[in-house]
Amino acid sequence: MTFATPSDAVHVRAPGKINVYLGVGGRHDDGYHALATVFQAVSLYEDVIARHADDFSITVSGVDDPDSVPLDDRNLAMRAAKLLATAAEYDGGVALEIRKSVPVAGGMGGGSADAAAALVACDALWGTGFSTARLHELGARLGADVPFALHGGTAVGTGRGDQLNPALARGRFDWLLVPSDDGLSTPLVYARLDALREAEGALADEPAVSLDVPVPVLQALRSGDPVLLSESIYNDLQEAALYERPELETTILRGIHAGALQGIVSGSGPTVALLCPSPEGAQQVQSMLREQGIHSLHVHGPVQGARIIG
Ligand code: ATP
Repeated sequence: MTFATPSDAVHVRAPGKINVYLGVGGRHDDGYHALATVFQAVSLYEDVIARHADDFSITVSGVDDPDSVPLDDRNLAMRAAKLLATAAEYDGGVALEIRKSVPVAGGMGGGSADAAAALVACDALWGTGFSTARLHELGARLGADVPFALHGGTAVGTGRGDQLNPALARGRFDWLLVPSDDGLSTPLVYARLDALREAEGALADEPAVSLDVPVPVLQALRSGDPVLLSESIYNDLQEAALYERPELETTILRGIHAGALQGIVSGSGPTVALLCPSPEGAQQVQSMLREQGIHSLHVHGPVQGARIIG
């Protein structure tokens, strides 16, 4: 394959996500659950800078606990770079610098955003010239949330969450994110959901869950009305996440008491996402929560997927 003239460094920014709706169906043979979800990309970003190198390496900043993010082949960004190199038959390497803002193991797809950013950055750095569709296909091999981090905006995800269809969303939605000090393992939360369903007599492979995104969710997004959206946001994983972290329910209730329209656990948690009526409303809720010692981040969605900066 021929490669275009390379640049010295490529800087890519990719967003974290909230699952505005997350329905979880049966577990597939490969261990994945069938999903029907609506993703929204929010203005909390991962920055990945790719530089030429003979080998593959990663540095990470922006995390409290350096041990929380692996720097080897377990890192999704590293796997993304190597997968692209193999697919493009590129025999050099890359030095990836990751500046994290999305909470680690927070249910906001931070690792997936890093992988998406690494694909776009290495594609540009190496002059690979892969199509968006090809990058999405590689992304889906890395993880179910990676295609959405490439896509951004608001989208319906089915299958494992990786089969995307854009959803119309008007205007902007304001969210307060309440991160937790300790992350939650996504497989643990899914296993808890299976256990809870089994205890209720539902087999893990056959839970009685509809796998369509309810029409009111899509209508609310189209209307741009946060009050309507607050009536239909939902997460099947929430019960399992609350089982593991009961204190998250208090956070949701405090948020609503402070003026949020509704609160939800983001993905597998433990980040709590509070939907607010407006930018000003979000600021008011944020200062009321601050007075109670609850730290939150004000973000909005939808925002673009992985993009080259500068
Ligand atoms: P999910 O996308 O499964 O909901 P999450 O958003 O809850 O995941 P991530 O921050 O993506 O959580 O990371 C989950 C785990 O993946 C981490 O605990 C870490 O061990 C591992 N990991 C691999 N690559 C990365 C990365 N680039 N950034 C953060 N964690 C990573």
